[in-house]
This record gives sequence, C-alpha cells and structure tokens, in this order.
Amino acid sequence: MDAVERLRERFPDAEERSSTEVLAPRAVNAHTHLDLSTMPFTPGAYDAFIVAAIAHTRAGGRGVEAARRGLAALRASGVRTVGDVVADEAVMALLLAEPELSGVAYWEVIGPDPADAPRLLDQARERLQRFLSWQRPGGMRVGLSPHAPHTVSAPLLRGLVQVARSLRLPLQIHVAEAPGERALHATGTGPLRAALAGALRDWRPSGMSPVAYLDDLGVLAARPTLVHMVEVDEDDVRRVARAGCVVVHCPRSNTALGCATFPWATFARHGVSVGLGTDSLGSSPDLSPVEEWRAAVAMHGGAASPAQLVWSAVKGGARALGMRPETVRRGDPFDALTTWVAPVH
Ligand code: ZN
Repeated sequence: MDAVERLRERFPDAEERSSTEVLAPRAVNAHTHLDLSTMPFTPGAYDAFIVAAIAHTRAGGRGVEAARRGLAALRASGVRTVGDVVADEAVMALLLAEPELSGVAYWEVIGPDPADAPRLLDQARERLQRFLSWQRPGGMRVGLSPHAPHTVSAPLLRGLVQVARSLRLPLQIHVAEAPGERALHATGTGPLRAALAGALRDWRPSGMSPVAYLDDLGVLAARPTLVHMVEVDEDDVRRVARAGCVVVHCPRSNTALGCATFPWATFARHGVSVGLGTDSLGSSPDLSPVEEWRAAVAMHGGAASPAQLVWSAVKGGARALGMRPETVRRGDPFDALTTWVAPVH
C-alpha cells in the first residue's frame, strides 16, 4: 500500500485535490545570531564581513536591543523554534524568559590564545551554571558554542566539551565556513590568517583539515552540531557521519560572503542529517527558514529534491537542536502548518 492509499484509508471523508505544495509543520531556524540584528546586511568577501562584524560589536551594536529586533523578525517569519548563538548575558536572560519560543540558546566562547584557556573555562562554567538556573520548562534550553576550530584554542576546546558533557549541554560550532579555513589549519597561511593575524598570534595549525582536527581532539565524539561545513572533503564527511553529528546548512549566508558551495550530494551519500539556518541579518537578508529553503532548492538543482529540503528545514532543524520535531494533529489550527511551494524551473 502506498502512502496515498494509507492516507485514504485513515481519512476516508477527506476532500482530495492535487497540488504541487507541501504542507508540513513549522520550519526551524537552526542557526542564527539574534544579537547581530542591527548590523546592516553586508554581502561581500568573508574577511571584510568579519572586520565589519567586529567593528559593529565594538561600537556596542550587539546586545538586547538588537536581539529584540531579531526576535520580532523571527516571529514575523513564523518561526517558533530557533538555534541562536548568544554573546551577551542580558540576551541569554531575554531568550530564556521568552514565551512561545523553543530551541537552544548557545553561549558563545572565543579564545584563540592557549594561555587564556583556564580563565575562560572557569568563566564559562560559572556562567553556564547560572544560565541553567534561568531555564523554564517548555522554554529555550541553554547550549554552548565554542565559536570555531581556529578561534578557540585546543585546551579551551577540550575543556568546553567536558563542561558541556558534565552539564548535559548541546553544542554548536562554526566549521569549514571561511575561504582559507582549510589552508589556515593545514599550513597556518592564507587569507584567513592574514585577516585574523592579530587575534591568531598564538594559535598553531594542526596540519589537518578543521574537521579532522576536531575529530582528533575528541570534539566530534561529543556530537556537536556543525554549522556551514562547505570547505570539506569526503574524509571529513565520513568522520562526521561516523560521529553522528548533525550539520546546519546556511546557503544564503555562504553565497553572500563568497564561501564555497555546500556539497549536498556528499552529505546525502553518507547519510548525514542536515538542518537549515539563516545565520545573522548581517549575512542574510531575513531570518526566514522558508526563504532559506527556496535558496537551497535553487542552489542544489537536481542534486536535492524540494521535499528532501523540506525535511531538512523541519525535521533536520529539530534534530540539529536535539529536539523532537513538531507534529500537527487532526483538529490543530491550520496556521500550525507551513505551505511550501517549490519554485518552477
Ligand atoms: Zn553564524
């Protein structure tokens, strides 16, 4: 019996009509930075974007006001479940108190100098324990985001993973996003090294790919959600599949910042679950996962079906945040569903 026949049997009185639309529960935005919502959309080279984001942060642009604006944009796009990277304590308090919002608020930690690791680790542990006391049943959960494999030193990465394990916190890390990230890890050279020269003064390359490095450090064994993952090869994807990590794909941000194209077919071949995220309003024109889905459909053409990508936007996103996907039951209001209309080529 095929799926349609099963539905006819279960719902014999339902009206039937043919359509090219998919109806599914609400989509999840599995990766964004709501506290960057007052940063203007800044497409262009990745390095220039990082410089602009740092300047915006130093000028005080990253905080509660920006997060409130981001929350309004998120709600307007119909999202109720989000994976948000948080860099401000007041934003953490805001998100954990937010009614009608679920998902994970990941506390961001940056620290490329190994000498800073013990201090930053103590600080992160103290903060995370405090944030956990603010969690409410049914609301957002506290998570932890070591920023990226090159902006967090090896001892700090290892320590943060231990803290996440002991406090049972979900992890999310930006990996293999930037052009030059592979060269930086392999040889300590290239455009990313040049762009971050001051910050990476005491950081040493491992000689491996960013993913192999995380695997070697024992980070992948903690099953972090890996965001972006565009500069990867088959060996990297095999390691991710073996560890059982979920990946978040942000096609519009990658295009806006001149990053490589996400190798959908390789991840599909290795059976890796993929969710969708918009990233921040600095690198994406809006926070809508439905628009992200549309961009992914256009980007991958025949390599990914629109229905597979709907799975990513709904169930893949929930899986990326360690949550059960939302379900819609008979009798639930219609606005609990999202209508997906595939673009006609
Ligand atoms: Zn991001």
